[in-house]
Amino acid sequence: MKTALVCGAGGFIGGHLVSRLKREGFWVRGVDIKAHEYTETEADDFAMGDLRDQAFCRSVIDRRFDEVYQLAADMGGAGYIFTGEHDAEVIHNSAMINLNVLDACHKRNVKGVFYSSSACMYPAYNQEDPDNPKCSEDSAYPAAPDSEYGWEKLFSERLYLAYNRNYGMRNRVARYHNVFGPQGTWDGGREKAPAAMCRKVAKAAVGGSIEIWGDGAQTRSFLYIDECLEGTTRLYRSDFEGPVNIGSEEMVTINQLALMVADIAGKRLELHHVPGPQGVRGRNSDNALIKQKLGWAPGATLRKGLEQTYPWIEQQVMGNQKPRKAA
Ligand code: NAD
Repeated sequence: MKTALVCGAGGFIGGHLVSRLKREGFWVRGVDIKAHEYTETEADDFAMGDLRDQAFCRSVIDRRFDEVYQLAADMGGAGYIFTGEHDAEVIHNSAMINLNVLDACHKRNVKGVFYSSSACMYPAYNQEDPDNPKCSEDSAYPAAPDSEYGWEKLFSERLYLAYNRNYGMRNRVARYHNVFGPQGTWDGGREKAPAAMCRKVAKAAVGGSIEIWGDGAQTRSFLYIDECLEGTTRLYRSDFEGPVNIGSEEMVTINQLALMVADIAGKRLELHHVPGPQGVRGRNSDNALIKQKLGWAPGATLRKGLEQTYPWIEQQVMGNQKPRKAA
């Protein structure tokens, strides 16, 4: 039986990835500092601990796993990343995790690790025009990410690729663009725009209003979780090391996102624009390289993904007083 290790298995993407690998027939070990907030893990073995701790890291990477996915990171949406309050923690925590996981895998002769970088590493100067952001893979340098989160991602990308060059590993680097779906963080300050929008719409009274940070004209694209996993496993099992975008090319304004969610909910709502952290003015995935290298790119519409996600968040909002899962 093939074995897989998923670091960050208690998180949104990691939790879904564990389920997918189980469906594919893997024996899976999940690792995280916390249990999954919304579901019982399907992992055969779930090791709870801190990947910043080298000894713990080596103890869970105790064999030559067939596949290793490194998704653990100190992360969140704009409300977490762009306030500046968490900068030191974000860089320190995520860099420590990556240094430890990669080195432990190298020492165990793991062939390669999948690393989830982020579109946040792209230079801010290419993302000032909301209608025309540039996020092709070759536009990464000269580097100028607009957050410390992005700088850490860039550092770690280089770390994984350096292990390929110097130690003959087959690490794979993906740059995820805004992934969303059920079982993702939807409250508490780390949630990202689609989940936050679903929560606000679910809480709003019909005919009422929801708050949007900034003028809402900033653009983004959002990738549904199933497509993120498809891209992840395709890249990991391919001969291409990356970095490569895994994202949607369907760019919308934040106002359009909000109105689409409201429409799915069947509510007519006013948008009330308030000051708040926004990040870059425009961002969209550029999928030319993934099409060329993997012969595949995400294709589902944003609306289809939101139609899967909104009911789950609405249910969470309604049942928020109840325990989220059996203890
Ligand atoms: P998430 O926050 O839900 O999952 C990350 C997990 O890492 C969490 O469960 C967290 O507890 C765990 N973790 C943090 N510190 C740890 C530590 N010291 N030891 C062990 N576990 C620790 O985030 P996600 O949305 O599932 O993202 C997964 C990966 O994809 C992250 O690396 C993230 O930066 C990257 N990414 C995500 C998106 C997105 O839109 N979700 C976009 C770009 C990149």
